[in-house]
Amino acid sequence: MEKIWTTSELLNWGKSYFAAKNISEPRLNFELLLCKVLNCNRIDLYLRYDYPFKPNQLNELKGLVNRRIKFEPLQYILGEVEFYGNKFICDKRALIPRPETELLVSHSKEIISLLNKPKPKVLEVGIGTGCVSISLAKMFPDVEFYGIDISPDAISLATENQKLNKVENIKFKEYDFFEFTKFSYFDLIISNPPYIPKEHYSKNNLQEELFFEPKIALTDDADGLVFYRKFADIINSSTNNIKLILEINENTSKKIVELFKNENTETTKIMDYNNLDRVLIIEKNK
Ligand code: GLN
Repeated sequence: MEKIWTTSELLNWGKSYFAAKNISEPRLNFELLLCKVLNCNRIDLYLRYDYPFKPNQLNELKGLVNRRIKFEPLQYILGEVEFYGNKFICDKRALIPRPETELLVSHSKEIISLLNKPKPKVLEVGIGTGCVSISLAKMFPDVEFYGIDISPDAISLATENQKLNKVENIKFKEYDFFEFTKFSYFDLIISNPPYIPKEHYSKNNLQEELFFEPKIALTDDADGLVFYRKFADIINSSTNNIKLILEINENTSKKIVELFKNENTETTKIMDYNNLDRVLIIEKNK
């Protein structure tokens, strides 16, 4: 007879197993995999402490555990993530939404609400899962959102997320930022571009999980400033009153800010909850 495993036995086994395999937050990780198999919330696990797992459920769990110990990100295994209070499908087609990026959304929200225009237009460069534009479009049904990404995978995932969140006022389109020319059509440009310098993108510096995510979403394969130089060109050559709001890398933030410093622009830097430079707003001074 095969041993019957209950939720509590599995949990005890799993948290030590994950700890031994160097998975951070081992208990939480294991709990969330149990929840995926049982299709329940974390609180329900404790109400179903003595639940005996069926052989097919054990098999499914084994598969998920094996993915996690190879350091596949938990969010990809669960297939969804919460961002700014909304649910998003999350898989290897795009970067996993980060909690720090919610700061990009909250400050974009503030800027958009102050745009003094009947029907403002907002562009997002590099949409990934679509979480930034979709979260904003939900709050501003009268604003026209446009999102571009070079990755067809990102466009397909973001489109699924748009449907899931039932927002109409966004158009996602596959475009290379460096070939896009219609910037002057927009009042605000938002972006969380790839900003890890090439020399920093190595297994010695970064956690294993990061290497499951699309490389083009993380590094520009150069000095980490390539996208910001282009954004500086855009604002310097624009004739309208365009604003930029960008997520920035805490390690290169000084260099990034430097790129935007001139007599015609004003920059505001915002720190995240870990006191790291995270968001930069660039506006023209009147
Ligand atoms: N914040 C991400 C990380 O370092 C990087 C995202 C990006 O390059 N924009 O984990």
